[in-house]
Amino acid sequence: MVGKIEIIVGCMFSGKSEELLRRLRRSVIAKKKIAVFKPSVDTRWNKTYELCSRNGECIQALPITDPQEMLRAIEDVDVVGIDELHFFPEVIVSVVEQLRKEGKHVIASGLDMDFRGEPFGCVPQLLAVADLVLKLDAICMICGKSATMTQRLINGKPAPYTTSNIHVGDEEYQARCRNCHEVSIP
Ligand SMILES: [Zn+2]
Repeated sequence: MVGKIEIIVGCMFSGKSEELLRRLRRSVIAKKKIAVFKPSVDTRWNKTYELCSRNGECIQALPITDPQEMLRAIEDVDVVGIDELHFFPEVIVSVVEQLRKEGKHVIASGLDMDFRGEPFGCVPQLLAVADLVLKLDAICMICGKSATMTQRLINGKPAPYTTSNIHVGDEEYQARCRNCHEVSIP
């Protein structure tokens, strides 16, 4: 039997990880075997750690650098959870489709847009091939309306358009609506 792909997207602070954890917890209650993966942004941190939502709830997640590692680590697993999808290389699209072909239920979450408001890496392709998609919003930290954008601030100022998507250190993120969202064009 073919499995399915569910994708949860949204800006920062939209509750994506909470929703991923909620769905994974339901799978555990249903006696499914789950495996959870997260991109290993720092390769020195190569051991099992916990995927935690902002309300402090945690589930064990395995950090990986190559999405192919998932295909080797999921024998007997029914449900595959993936967090921070946007940090994975494009090859994750074919890996996730392979998992579905093998009957796995994939539940994944990530940012749909980067701080510029542009589609983020592999995520748009995954949204296209997914069976189910949920897009969450947050609350704009400036005006209190519905927020769909991630505001990136470096030294308190809107990040320049040309900044890479990798964290640079003294920076901060906010959820903002399109009216309040700012990108500095150098
Ligand atoms: Zn706003």
